[in-house]
Amino acid sequence: MAEQTCFIALGSNLGDRPKNLARARLLLADKVEVIKTSSIYETDPWGVTDQPRFLNQVVEGKTSMTAADLLRFLKQIEQELGRRKTYRYGPRTIDLDILILGDLVLDTPDLTIPHPRIAERAFVLVPLSELAPDLLLPGSQKTIRDLLAASGTSGVKLYEGAV
Ligand code: AMP
Repeated sequence: MAEQTCFIALGSNLGDRPKNLARARLLLADKVEVIKTSSIYETDPWGVTDQPRFLNQVVEGKTSMTAADLLRFLKQIEQELGRRKTYRYGPRTIDLDILILGDLVLDTPDLTIPHPRIAERAFVLVPLSELAPDLLLPGSQKTIRDLLAASGTSGVKLYEGAV
């Protein structure tokens, strides 16, 4: 596989949240060349709102992995960082999602790329727009900046804690 740019979303709302993000970035760097990392944002939980606030961040990287291999790799990292299954949208030590992989548009039962909920999630769009505001979301005519303008930034603020 030729090397492609990827954007990966990191989220944590259990335990030492900044440390969980840092450990995930470190493990990610084993197989993904990290090019840029966004600021860290503290965000209101989405879906199930009665749970701690999340820290969210987006990493831009380069990888030669296929989408399926990249997903397997992210799941391995989640396991390694002690993520246990709770319930959909529930609390998690670490959550890793493939947002974008090159210009790939894929929709299978296991994997949808670009991530299907990018456009509606300010906690993804705010950090992603820091890294690539002019990027056209593959499969659409809209840039990340356009999508952010439509979603707004409600519930997302720069994280001021120690990292
Ligand atoms: P969750 O970790 O609860 O956000 O959901 C993980 C599941 O979503 C995985 O087991 C994947 O099969 C599926 N999935 C679908 N599209 C994606 C994507 N773009 N990135 C990560 N997981 C995805």
